[in-house]
Amino acid sequence: MTILVSACLLGLRCRYDGQPKPNAAVLALGEKHSLVPCCPEQLGGLPTPRSPAEWQGDRIANRAGEDVTAQYLRGGEEAVNLARTLGCGAAVLKERSPACSSREIYDGSFTGTLKPGEGSAAKALRAAGIPVYGESELDKLP
Ligand code: SF4
Repeated sequence: MTILVSACLLGLRCRYDGQPKPNAAVLALGEKHSLVPCCPEQLGGLPTPRSPAEWQGDRIANRAGEDVTAQYLRGGEEAVNLARTLGCGAAVLKERSPACSSREIYDGSFTGTLKPGEGSAAKALRAAGIPVYGESELDKLP
């Protein structure tokens, strides 16, 4: 299977702070599957490094108070484009990210408080029929 994967989980330095978040179990998926790195925040046009952002209602704002919703939505659309173009059967995305999270997001207060919710790219991929899993859910992969 071809799997779309959050690029930071594969070791790319695309996070808001310019650092990677490599995950050994995710990298090991490459032994059996074709992995496609994807960073929706970069695909949406945001720079690296960048101000961290959180969902605030139905908008996304960064710590500087700038509305970056359009970039997040565009990044989600581009993630879907990439997944469709390369025939991805699933996505493994970074948990707790405002773009990639499949289950929980920060609550917009920049205090580290989580609430149920999904990121813009996870939501777009699911709407396109592509199942999304977090890095702690690899046992659920088909
Ligand atoms: Fe990683 Fe996704 Fe954030 Fe990009 S948008 S840095 S892939 S969690």
